[in-house]
This record gives sequence, C-alpha cells and structure tokens, in this order.
Amino acid sequence: MQARAAVMPQRHGRWSMETIEVAEPGPHEVLVRVVASGICQTDVHARDGFFPIPFPAVFGHEGAGVVVRVGSAVTSLAPGDHVVMANPSCGHCDDCRAGYETYCAHAPQLKQSGYRSDGRSLSFKHGDTPVYGSFFQQSSFAALTLAMERNTIRVPKDAPLDVLAAFPCGVNTGAGAVLNVLKPQPGDAYVAFGTGTVGFAGLLAAKLCGCDPIIAVDLFDDRLALARELGATHTVNAGHPDLVAEVKRLAGGRGARFCLEAAGAPEALRAAVEVLAPRGTVCLVGSARPGVEVSLEMKTVQQGRIVRGCTQGESHVQTFIPRLIELYREGKLPIGRLVRHYPHEAIDDAVADMLAGKTVKAVLRIAAT
Ligand SMILES: [Zn+2]
Ligand SMILES: [Zn+2]
Repeated sequence: MQARAAVMPQRHGRWSMETIEVAEPGPHEVLVRVVASGICQTDVHARDGFFPIPFPAVFGHEGAGVVVRVGSAVTSLAPGDHVVMANPSCGHCDDCRAGYETYCAHAPQLKQSGYRSDGRSLSFKHGDTPVYGSFFQQSSFAALTLAMERNTIRVPKDAPLDVLAAFPCGVNTGAGAVLNVLKPQPGDAYVAFGTGTVGFAGLLAAKLCGCDPIIAVDLFDDRLALARELGATHTVNAGHPDLVAEVKRLAGGRGARFCLEAAGAPEALRAAVEVLAPRGTVCLVGSARPGVEVSLEMKTVQQGRIVRGCTQGESHVQTFIPRLIELYREGKLPIGRLVRHYPHEAIDDAVADMLAGKTVKAVLRIAAT
C-alpha cells in the first residue's frame, strides 16, 4: 500500500512530502489510516538527530485515525474502529508487569530504533530505499501506518479525531503527572512552569482536583492570558525580576505544595524547587535534550522537598486515555482551546509556530491521499 508521508531526509532538515510504501501488519499490529497527528517537542528532538533512529525517517507519536486492517492475533480492535496511538510498551518486562509501562525496559527500542517491535523489520520504504519509522511504534506523520495493538486505543466515533490527536503524549503526560503522580487535594497551591500542551493539561487537571491557587509561569504573555481563562488564578511572566519571591507570595508565603516543570529548562526546574513549600513536590515532565544539567542549592532540597520526574504521565494508556477523553467530552478538559490545525504539508510551519510560542498544540490534518 502507498501513502503520503512527511519524511525527514536528514538531521536538522526540512520535511519532504513523499509517497512511501507501507508494509502489511504483522500478527500483533494494526494498519491505521491517520486522520490527524499532534506534533510534540520530542518530534523536534528527533528531527534534530537526538535519537538513534536513522534517516530518512518518519516521526510523529500522537496519531489519531481509523483502523484499516488488523493482524491475525489482534483481538481488541477491528477495521473501522476510531483509535489514537499512544506510548508503546512491551507488556512483559518487570516494569510493565508492575504497572509502570511508561518505564518499559524495551521503550528505547520500541520508540526510537526505527524498527518495528520485532527489532528488525521496517514499516516503510521509498522505492528500494529503506525509510525508518515505527517512531513510538506509530510514525503518525504518514497517512497510513502500522502500530501495535497494545499502544492503539479505541476512542468514541463521535469525538473529533483532530482534537483527540493532542491526547496520546501531551495531554496524557501533563494530566497524568497531576492525576497519577502528584495527586493534589482541594486547596493545595499548584504552580505550572511552562504552558505548552503538557503544562496546560496539568493545569486543567489541577483545577479538576480543586487546587487553589493555581499559578502559571511562562515567557509568553498570550499563553498566560489563556491560562487565566482556563483556570489559573494567577500568572507570572518567567522574566519577572524576582520570580521566586513573587510566586511564593502568590502561593501564600511559604510556597507551593506542588509544581509541574513542563518547560524542560534548567532555570525553570531550579525555580520550581525554590518556590515549593517545605515537603512540597515538583514533578519534572519537560523534555530536555541529552546532557542538559541543573544546579540546585542543597539546603532547599533538604527541607523535605521532593524533586522527581515522570514519563508519559506514568499512565496505563489503555485505561487512562479513555478516561481523559471522557473528561474532555464532559467539558472538564477543554483541550480544543489549545489546538491549532495545519495541513499535513505545512508541518515545517506548524513546528516553527510551536517553537515560537504562537500555537500551544499544533495538530496536522492528514488527508487520505
Ligand atoms: Zn515492558
Ligand atoms: Zn511527545
């Protein structure tokens, strides 16, 4: 089968629209016609060569679409099902069996090797040229792609796929960090460092938990305005000359009970630790490139503060993502407010807007041909 795909020909390149050949699904795989795909910072890291996946390659790890065909061993999905494709995991390593699939021992191979779950076959080729894919076992920047049954989640047919495409990584990560990891109580002071998709999803989840105050910190004033609309009680520009003191003041003097670091910046993580009240917890979800380090004053950590991270919201995607979609349909997670749509071939513009802070969540609309 042939499909249009946004192919990255080389490290740091521009995307090129190509018609590629897509392989048949293996026993545990599904073939999905991708209708929409979110774009996330991790796709930009991949474009820039920070993962071992060879080039040319197809990225994308927030696909939403319709099942076309299923492999012989697939039991939970059928052609015609609407699905999103999420974080992959093996299901049988120690971490998967302990319920922590986001730390799957096989995650590097499943997410970033360029190969399907068998570790040797490819989803795509272009003429005789191999095209590496299976990015997060989905490569959703192709109009037709292969995913594992395990990371493909059935969604309601009357929910808009071009909004659900924000859920598999960004919304899952931010909402999961709050609902699965931090678990705040009503009245807890919460601070969001960074208001991209992950930061916003965390903020909306904190609002659902009854956090008060909810303080959003970002460099972009228009995002802070949106944060106020969507539930932040206070906002502070990250360029504030006395950022830590100001956030602590707004959090009630002693500091915040919980922070989410969704900026992926060392100065944001340091500030997030410093604005915590004693015994407060910061959860790091921001995506930094390899080698980025942070310095902390040791005395701040000694005050009972907890600095931890989490991957993909520490969620079980097959149950947590449907729960988030239900909250969205009840109007409690207004994710549509964050999304801006772009045509498939405008992927370079979408990424540029995302990096410039002009859009919170860029979602590609992907035509069938
Ligand atoms: Zn595993
Ligand atoms: Zn992502």
